[in-house]
Amino acid sequence: MFFRMKKLEKIDYNLDIARELIPNHARYLLARSLSLLPEEVVNFVADNLLFISSEGGEYITFNHPFFQNRKGFILLPSDLWKKKPIEIAFVIAHEIAHAYMNDEIKSWDDMEKRIPYEIKADKTAVRWLSKSYSEKNLRRLCDYWR
Ligand SMILES: [Zn+2]
Repeated sequence: MFFRMKKLEKIDYNLDIARELIPNHARYLLARSLSLLPEEVVNFVADNLLFISSEGGEYITFNHPFFQNRKGFILLPSDLWKKKPIEIAFVIAHEIAHAYMNDEIKSWDDMEKRIPYEIKADKTAVRWLSKSYSEKNLRRLCDYWR
């Protein structure tokens, strides 16, 4: 338990989750979800990604220091934080998997072309989280790979 809390705090600190970009109550849930991922993935996230989740309107300029030297950001719906921990962890892992595998999805409208990327992201999320949750329960959350 002590180790786990230390890891969560370290992740929260390392990510320096922008207070303006993530509501306070979600910070713990985000850090907890990230703590379940392999260490190299957590390091990748800390170096490359930002998370944005907002209940109200926000204007964020790309000149904002948080965006500098980042590969991209992950936009999370504000109602995600009301879901079960396994669901929160899965959605976050799936989106990180796209970034980690360098998915450059060119035709967002063409579902047929997207499906292989979505299956790959689902599979990767299941693999990353399989130490914390049963594969059966994780697979139920997959939209594309069941
Ligand atoms: Zn996806």
